[in-house]
Amino acid sequence: MMDYDVIVIGGGVTGTAIAWYLARYDIKVLLLEKECELCEGASKANSGIAHSGYDPEPGTLKASLNVRGSRMLHSLASLLDLDYMQNGAMVLAFSDSDLKKLEKLKERGSANGVSYSEMLSKDEVLRRERNVSKDVKAALFFPTSAIICPFSLVYAFAENAAVNGVEVRTSAPVTGIEKRRDGFVIHSDDLSFASRSVVNAAGIYADRISAMVVPEYFSLTPRRGEYVLLDKTEGFVTSTLFRTPAELGKGVLVTPTVHGNILVGPDCIETGEKDNTATVSKGLAAVMESGRKSVPELNYRTIITSFSGVRAHPDGNDFIIDMPCPGFFNAAGIESPGLTASPAIGEMAGSMVAEYLKAKKKNNYIETRKKIVRASSLSPEKLNDLIATNPGYGRIVCRCESVSEGEIVEAVRRGAVTLDGVKRRVRAGMGRCQGGFCTPLLLDILSRELNVKKEMLGKKGPGSEVLV
Ligand SMILES: Cc1cc2nc3c(=O)[nH]c(=O)nc-3n(C[C@H](O)[C@H](O)[C@H](O)COP(=O)(O)OP(=O)(O)OC[C@H]3O[C@@H](n4cnc5c(N)ncnc54)[C@H](O)[C@@H]3O)c2cc1C
Repeated sequence: MMDYDVIVIGGGVTGTAIAWYLARYDIKVLLLEKECELCEGASKANSGIAHSGYDPEPGTLKASLNVRGSRMLHSLASLLDLDYMQNGAMVLAFSDSDLKKLEKLKERGSANGVSYSEMLSKDEVLRRERNVSKDVKAALFFPTSAIICPFSLVYAFAENAAVNGVEVRTSAPVTGIEKRRDGFVIHSDDLSFASRSVVNAAGIYADRISAMVVPEYFSLTPRRGEYVLLDKTEGFVTSTLFRTPAELGKGVLVTPTVHGNILVGPDCIETGEKDNTATVSKGLAAVMESGRKSVPELNYRTIITSFSGVRAHPDGNDFIIDMPCPGFFNAAGIESPGLTASPAIGEMAGSMVAEYLKAKKKNNYIETRKKIVRASSLSPEKLNDLIATNPGYGRIVCRCESVSEGEIVEAVRRGAVTLDGVKRRVRAGMGRCQGGFCTPLLLDILSRELNVKKEMLGKKGPGSEVLV
């Protein structure tokens, strides 16, 4: 049996952020993810907003970690080479009761430590965002709000953790945990790992992992949120456009993504099913209608895909970051703003673990990480130089997103084993045709690089094979 100081369960943004933070200590860390790729849970299906922090209830972990996380992301964007852009957010008011809510949000933002917000008149809103509905009465603007590619954050945390010595195992579902006098034994199918401590960051399944050690400690309710994603439309909207918050969340937003698409959603449906990420026509219709209240000219003929993500809603409505028994830590109930808060959650949970283990910092910690080069973003001179060293960067495989073979090979080298893994790392198959053209070519490259038969390859692992 292999021995570790800490095992982190879950390869979403929470687990990878904790592993990233722990990587600066001189300890043996293992991250276990049940799927064959990282970033398979809520971390792959969300709005991709780095929230400024006006929404959470003051005094909660959500509020403090949101504001801290938003600031940390701002500096991590260059350190970890993230796909991130500070575009600002407007909360739009369409009625007198909305206007009252804006006043409350402004106060709440200040109470949470959001550094600045500005009330905009109708004219000012329409001057900045010409496609917003003329029915708008005013808006509250938060300049520190940003957009981020959620996949880029998960891979950045994981790659930086790995380069600093963290071991990452995928296709490793935790099936049982035994509490021993000096630590824990974690079972993953036929394998077992001993560890002095454990961090539970298993997303919507964190209640089940927790129950393996501390029975009936908390439960999580799955709340699904659906989206439509529109093709790239330069400058159609520039800020993230929120409605005033509703009972079950921040309501339907319209936002540019960091890659230039338009995203509309989400709704909030309690399905009772942890794995239910279906989209349903009724839900999508409501999302689209709500989006048009903010931006009437949204052109739904340009929708390229729809998707949904599942929020892990905790009973107490706040993040659960604690140590309910010695050496066992929870980072659970991490619903929105969990993506934004992730570096701060990593810092908080990671510091708790380090203190428990009395861990010392390493002196050879590597702080930076570089993303995969985007051939299409290079100048002709730089691209020619790159092609001279690796001709694969001159062969375009995904036409919609201009992704070269060199980038896809690098995605495989960094851990992609599925079509989705390639797509999330370099955007091949993410564009207008959604892989209609490049899927056969991607299968060829994956098969060649991984040395497996094409029939074995799938969209997201066993059961999703493409060829028969
Ligand atoms: C619709 C929606 C919109 C959102 N929008 C935003 C936003 O704009 N901004 C923001 O800040 N936040 C947003 N969030 C919240 C954010 O997405 C989540 O807080 C965050 O992704 C949670 O990450 P996680 O790692 O805790 O969970 P997950 O990403 O779900 O990761 C948990 C991982 O644990 C793995 N796992 C589960 N069980 C086991 C096991 N037994 N063994 C091993 N591994 C296991 C899973 O496979 C999964 O990979 C949104 C969430 C949703 C659903």
